[in-house]
Amino acid sequence: MQTKILKVNPKNPKLSQIRQAAKIIRSGKLVAFPTETVYGIGANALDPSAVKRIFVAKGRPSDNPLIVHISDIADLGILVDHIPESSFDVIDKFWPGPLTIVFKKSKIVPKIVTGGLDTVAIRMPKNKIANMLIVEAGTPIAAPSANIAGRPSPTTAKHVIDDLSGRISMILDGGPTKIGIESTVIDLSRNTPMLLRPGGITLEQLQKVLGKVAIHPIIYGKKTKSAHRSPGMKYRHYSPRAKIILIQGTKSKVNKKISQLVQYYKNQGLHIGILSMEKNSTKSDMTRFIGNNPNRIASNLFKSFREFDDRKIDIVLAQEISQKGIGLGIMNRLGKAAYKKVQRVDSPLVLFLVCCPTCSTAEKSLKITHL
Ligand code: AMP
Ligand code: MG
Repeated sequence: MQTKILKVNPKNPKLSQIRQAAKIIRSGKLVAFPTETVYGIGANALDPSAVKRIFVAKGRPSDNPLIVHISDIADLGILVDHIPESSFDVIDKFWPGPLTIVFKKSKIVPKIVTGGLDTVAIRMPKNKIANMLIVEAGTPIAAPSANIAGRPSPTTAKHVIDDLSGRISMILDGGPTKIGIESTVIDLSRNTPMLLRPGGITLEQLQKVLGKVAIHPIIYGKKTKSAHRSPGMKYRHYSPRAKIILIQGTKSKVNKKISQLVQYYKNQGLHIGILSMEKNSTKSDMTRFIGNNPNRIASNLFKSFREFDDRKIDIVLAQEISQKGIGLGIMNRLGKAAYKKVQRVDSPLVLFLVCCPTCSTAEKSLKITHL
């Protein structure tokens, strides 16, 4: 399949271009488009065979549900069974924007969209191109991030081309996305609101409006026996091909540990990268200094992952940052991408704690007291 790429002015999108894309959506095919968070790959949310194409193009497991994007609050009434009172203020304050809300679904939403759940995740994006596309398509658009499953979410059209060229009908290139990590997901379908994924709208902002907000333990990388509210949460997303090692601890100890680890891996003939939020004088094969402004870190995070892969880096050493504000979302993504965590380099015994279920048993028992 030939993928058509259209460059669109993000501030003032041409209606004729958006209409070309909307026509493709209406015909049951796929269009990638920018949102304020990351690029999405969209299909008519009410057409099960169109939605199936998303799962095929991405290689996405069928139990990982999709977010449905709307442009008008009136669409909410069609898609959901019940709009809880708690959602009114949240919608008023954060829509359009990078917030996805989980509701009880109505019959009109095909099961394939929700991975078989009786709830549906809905978002009203702010990005002009996304908004106009939904309006012109005349239907809600189901759209996960526009990457091959397991790769970092795309923040530029080039990332989408790298992953999905030949697999989808069109890409709307509206330049780099602003926020850079995926939307916040909050479940309002039950009595207590629960944060399922941290993102551009912060936990603190939500607490101000909702009061008590429960936090799903998986956000902190904790295993939970309870059934996942969101099957998608069990997948290890956001992962570059390079192995990311997340180093936690006080600044001076972290810097020392980074230089020790660089030497250790260099001696093994590996290509080593550093993802650095603080200036660090250690020389590596590729150092990406992304500053210590949390918004800037978020917008450069996935791009950096992909750049390490382009340079064939084997191991990336990354520092932890504060979990305040958007920092919670950044640390969640870093934790999910991480192959290992070197926890508390200031504690006497340093262990590699494996934080992802795909690591082998041999790796799980690896101790690095020799470092
Ligand atoms: P993506 O669009 O690839 O960023 O992934 C969408 C994510 O939204 C999924 O992995 C889930 O975590 C979440 N999600 C979508 N639908 C639901 C739902 N019905 N209930 C809970 N979470 C959902
Ligand atoms: Mg995704």
